[in-house]
Amino acid sequence: MKKLCGIALIALFLLSGCENVNNTEYSSTFFAMNTFAEVTAYGNDAEAACSEIQDSVAEMERLWSVTDENSEIFELNHGKRSKVSPMTANIVSFALEQARKTGGALDPTIYPVLAAWGFTTDENRVPSAEEISELLKLVGYEKVAVSGNEITLEEGMMLDLGAVAKGYATARAAEILSKHGVKSALVNFGGNVLAYGSKPDGSDWKIGVKDPADDGIVGILSISDKTAVTSGKYKRFFTAPDGTVYGHIIDPKTGYPADNDLLSATIIASDGALCDAMSTAIFVMGKNSAEGFWRAVGGFDMILITKDGEIIITEGIEKDFRLTGDLRLSVIR
Ligand code: ADP
Ligand code: MG
Repeated sequence: MKKLCGIALIALFLLSGCENVNNTEYSSTFFAMNTFAEVTAYGNDAEAACSEIQDSVAEMERLWSVTDENSEIFELNHGKRSKVSPMTANIVSFALEQARKTGGALDPTIYPVLAAWGFTTDENRVPSAEEISELLKLVGYEKVAVSGNEITLEEGMMLDLGAVAKGYATARAAEILSKHGVKSALVNFGGNVLAYGSKPDGSDWKIGVKDPADDGIVGILSISDKTAVTSGKYKRFFTAPDGTVYGHIIDPKTGYPADNDLLSATIIASDGALCDAMSTAIFVMGKNSAEGFWRAVGGFDMILITKDGEIIITEGIEKDFRLTGDLRLSVIR
């Protein structure tokens, strides 16, 4: 099986070369928010669109980095400001709304716990149970107050937009592509894949869904005008001296890295920001709660890969997903 670089969703189109159907093609790659981005766009203004996308991601990173001392989020987290730019207020409100919707499976105030596990510095450690329970007192999306562009955090609380920022950036990329008259583009931002329009020949974009257990893929998703985002433990993790593998997605109820029956959760929807928020939350929920949440709330399709080799997809993408591996497939309706 072809080695696919450890990213969760792979734009197969990029591996098989580009077609150019009466359309100027422009591609760019850049590194931002700790990950690689690849943009391929078709249209007379494709180059300008790609460059504006790169600028917009750089601006988001400048505003939201948790480690850059000059970012708005850093200053907010360290009591140095409460007034933020409209875009920061907007994404914080969005993250809080998704936190409420998911009953706190997504919680943008998880940062103090995440930092204790060393995921922000890459100096990983296993905190003691006492340390985790103390830090959990600083976590709670319902304690954040937003009034216009003013954000108020209780003493010691800290925000982290890591679970939603890349999706927000791909949603913004779609707006930029539209503004530049681009009809067809593929944006892969660290496993957040925006299939904008369809391929220049009118067919769907083909996206490989990575097998979390190895370097292969489990199936191919054919989509147009949708975003697909995967969360999973295999993307960023560390192995403790006793052999336990800890991933970077924390269950806010326990303060420990989410460890349930899922290996990965892929969300497919029109809104990239929603996809990113849901992929993290659904991964925290585990299979049964995820199914219940999808039925009760919905608004997206999903592909769940479980530890026992099952792949569960929702009915909305049944026609768009082709299994390539030997996992057991079931469809929920
Ligand atoms: P990735 O960054 O690998 O694409 P996610 O979108 O799932 O994956 O985001 C994971 C990041 O979100 C973590 O690195 C951390 O910054 C933050 N995070 C971890 N757990 C949670 C959680 N339960 N709620 C909100 N943010 C989280
Ligand atoms: Mg996410």
